[in-house]
Amino acid sequence: MRERLFWILKNYGVKDRIAKAFLEVPRESFLMKRYPLSYVYEDVVLVSYDDGEVFSTSSQPSLMAMFMEWVELSEGMKVLEVGGGTGYNAAVMSKVVGDSGLIVSIEYSEKICKIAEENLKKLGIENVIVICGDGYYGVPDFAPYDVVFVTVGVDEIPDTWFEQMHEKSRVIVPINLKLSGRQPAFLFSKASPYLVGGYKLETRFIKAGGKLGNLLERNKKFLKEFPLSKVISISRPFLFLELVDILTRKLTKIDGRFYYVDDRGAVEFLNGEIRIYGEATEIENLLSQWERCGYRGFEHLTLHIGYNAFSRVSCSI
Ligand code: SAH
Repeated sequence: MRERLFWILKNYGVKDRIAKAFLEVPRESFLMKRYPLSYVYEDVVLVSYDDGEVFSTSSQPSLMAMFMEWVELSEGMKVLEVGGGTGYNAAVMSKVVGDSGLIVSIEYSEKICKIAEENLKKLGIENVIVICGDGYYGVPDFAPYDVVFVTVGVDEIPDTWFEQMHEKSRVIVPINLKLSGRQPAFLFSKASPYLVGGYKLETRFIKAGGKLGNLLERNKKFLKEFPLSKVISISRPFLFLELVDILTRKLTKIDGRFYYVDDRGAVEFLNGEIRIYGEATEIENLLSQWERCGYRGFEHLTLHIGYNAFSRVSCSI
């Protein structure tokens, strides 16, 4: 049966080392429910845990494999996995990185992370460390990581992950878009003070709980009163809003309206125009960079997420 999955992955063009890792790990050991084995090795998402209170899924194997390819997962690497679930993906990655590598997997649900620990122990997998907690904080004790591998939909890529990466480390991450509810995955590499990269594909993961899933709520407190300084009409305002969402991590939503919030000003997003209160240099810069790129959607742009620096967008891809 596992052989079958191996060939499904090979057909996707997945490299041997990664496809072979799937041969080494029994997926059924990570599922709470019994599925027929023929189904376990289909290329499908499966429920791995559900007690009516907390819920986890085992991601689609081809998607996991593609993520591994994109981050160029290889022997000896140290990986931070966010959204560890019952541990299947961590187990597969542990085979790719081998004994000289390490997977540090953080899972929010205490119950589920305990199960992951047991599952991995039963299989004698020693190069995975399971941590119970909110992935928002990463796991500084084992940093820096070569790869941050995110298997849960998150609202932002927090400062902590950026700090726990070294130059050129990669992060693969599904981001929850606040306007459309889409969950596109992005690949970035660190080039201080930016994460530089772009869109890969559409996904549907579980939406993160905790701080990785409440950005709009958390940012509410930053909306302050500033005098209205500018009204700019823009074409394709929703595309611009999505870009601001991914790039700045400074969106909030109040009374159904989106705002960019900063300590020097705020920007209100309306249908067809944006209103700048106080100062919003980052947004004005972004707008002119985006205009130069022909108002293209984020899928067709190179994104530079700034950490203690203004984010930027460039046209090449
Ligand atoms: N990698 C897993 C897939 C897990 S699904 C596998 O191979 O099976 C996503 C998981 O992310 C769920 O178990 C969920 O509990 C967890 N999660 C949700 N919010 C989180 C957060 N803030 N930090 C870490 N994990 C989180």
